[in-house]
Amino acid sequence: MSSSVDIEAIEEAVLGLRQRVSNLHSELTRYDLVAWTAGNVSGRVPGHDLFVIKPSGVGYEDLSADAMVVCDLDGNVIPGTRGSERSPSSDTAAHAYVYRHMGHVGGVVHTHSTYATAWAARNEPIPCVITAMADEFGGDIPVGPFAIIGDDSIGRGIVATLADHRSRAVLMANHGVFTIGKDAKDAVKAAVMCEDVARTVHIARQGGDLVPIAPDAIDSLFDRYQNVYGQPGKVAGAEGASA
Ligand SMILES: [Zn+2]
Repeated sequence: MSSSVDIEAIEEAVLGLRQRVSNLHSELTRYDLVAWTAGNVSGRVPGHDLFVIKPSGVGYEDLSADAMVVCDLDGNVIPGTRGSERSPSSDTAAHAYVYRHMGHVGGVVHTHSTYATAWAARNEPIPCVITAMADEFGGDIPVGPFAIIGDDSIGRGIVATLADHRSRAVLMANHGVFTIGKDAKDAVKAAVMCEDVARTVHIARQGGDLVPIAPDAIDSLFDRYQNVYGQPGKVAGAEGASA
């Protein structure tokens, strides 16, 4: 990884992804999912065992394509790449663990968005009581284990919870939200939708009992939305030219 040719090849491979991942952070602020420097987006580099992630402790207004940090799937910064003088997000180990163990995942997002994190604080799954949840998550949004930052335990908890679940979002107990997607934009969409349904279901419960959606109805809603909804030839939530 040390020769200039390798670095050039890596920079060429990550060129567009750097800009997309940087831009997607503005969606976290636009939808009010983050405070100060909390929250992070990463995207897998197609065809390489690499991902691009937000640097640690940098304000959202100071992010740029060049500030994004390129890491291998063990979470090590690739020396010599642009941005490599910075430390990657403090959640990098969790992102790396997910990419290592879930080959279909192309993007990971982490936030402490208010309503979803309130459910996480109660260690309570968000029940599937609105059709938008069935569409997007295929059922309840589950709770993952309590895990301390600093080793693989957050990543292990995310993978263990989502591996056999249709949901792309997990509420890590007493912590916050991690979402996965086929690319970084898809994971950001899941984070936005997770907060939206967390808020709606919270408000709904203030007014009375929640009414669950029947499992077979959830199945057909999920199937229709994931496989049929959207423009012909496009998959719902897929990363487009405007990303
Ligand atoms: Zn966190």
